[in-house]
Amino acid sequence: MRSFAYVVPDSVAGAVDALAAAEPGTRILAGGTTLYDLMKLGIEAPPAVIDIHRLAELTEISTSDGELSFGAGARMAEVADHPVVRRDYPALSESLWRAASQQLRNMATVGGNLLQRTRCGYFRGGAEFPCNKRNPGSGCAALEGLDRTHALLGTSDTCIATYPGDWAVALIAFDAVLDVVGPAGERTLPLGELHVEPGDNPLLEHTLAPDELILRIRVPATPAGRGSTYHKIRDRESYAFALTSAATAVTLDAQGTVTDCRIGLGGVATRPWRATTAERSLIGEQLTRETARRAGEVAFAGARPPRTGAFRVELGIRTVTDALLTAGKRAAR
Ligand SMILES: Cc1cc2nc3c(=O)[nH]c(=O)nc-3n(C[C@H](O)[C@H](O)[C@H](O)COP(=O)(O)OP(=O)(O)OC[C@H]3O[C@@H](n4cnc5c(N)ncnc54)[C@H](O)[C@@H]3O)c2cc1C
Ligand code: SF4
Repeated sequence: MRSFAYVVPDSVAGAVDALAAAEPGTRILAGGTTLYDLMKLGIEAPPAVIDIHRLAELTEISTSDGELSFGAGARMAEVADHPVVRRDYPALSESLWRAASQQLRNMATVGGNLLQRTRCGYFRGGAEFPCNKRNPGSGCAALEGLDRTHALLGTSDTCIATYPGDWAVALIAFDAVLDVVGPAGERTLPLGELHVEPGDNPLLEHTLAPDELILRIRVPATPAGRGSTYHKIRDRESYAFALTSAATAVTLDAQGTVTDCRIGLGGVATRPWRATTAERSLIGEQLTRETARRAGEVAFAGARPPRTGAFRVELGIRTVTDALLTAGKRAAR
């Protein structure tokens, strides 16, 4: 690992000043569970890191009637285990419980989780592999290589890497927004506008400016929260990234008709994916295995499966089907 400067501001204003004065490539350091890995691999080489662990404002969690608010520095384990989140938004809690291991969840933050980078083996594998995300213009080793876990949705001819996180998949289903701060002050950014598809420039992964800090994540209150779940299918149960995942939430009227439906897909796309057409296909329907499966098929209608990962289309449809049925049972309670 190369040497780097270590800066520890003790206020948000101090962090913003430090970011504004920082050399290009400087990174914010939260739990370090991904950033230090990438630095050890030589994929990230920041001249400085700005450690935000002293910023108490970033660890606040509030769960009022109107919205949930999570400081970006709150630990994944703390949010997963919050009693209101567990009771009223099981999909949010479960997306965190099913992410990583307990040791990682105790250290990693909910803000850092959003900005983790792909686990594509060629991206992490080093200079011997062509990778447009690591070295723009060099090519993409995955296109002719091991692509079993690569993306089905949102891909381009230059990159098929999957967005690996679980938390953003549940957040996108609930219309979460981020409050971010930079030298020009604060702004609010819908989570759905944070991550970008690779297009011609896979190096560009999100819309935050280099001198912006995520302060908090806010989730508007919705009755659909109680009727929600996060299903994650992975190669091993102890801890692993998703082969497919689905965050689903539904609201049913007294006759069991779906009046609200939300579907986020994970493990299958280049960014956290909201399946809005599939959501609309269920509104006004009774929630049965047949209608849930049809919604799953709509969700994957545009899939361009990788060569050895085509089985994940059917797996994804079944994941959505089962998650919708679980959400429906919870909504009917
Ligand atoms: C073995 C292993 C298994 C894992 N399995 C899963 C899994 O199944 N599901 C899953 O979702 N994740 C998984 N992860 C990833 C893990 O959840 C992330 O490493 C973690 O959430 C990142 O949080 P952090 O606080 O440590 O971020 P850091 O490593 O400190 O930072 C990550 C990135 O976010 C930026 N950043 C952090 N905070 C802010 C902020 N407030 N504002 C702006 N930028 C910021 C940093 O600059 C950096 O670029 C796994 C990780 C490992 C090592
Ligand atoms: S899929 Fe993307 S990250 Fe993986 S090798 Fe290709 S360009 Fe790199």
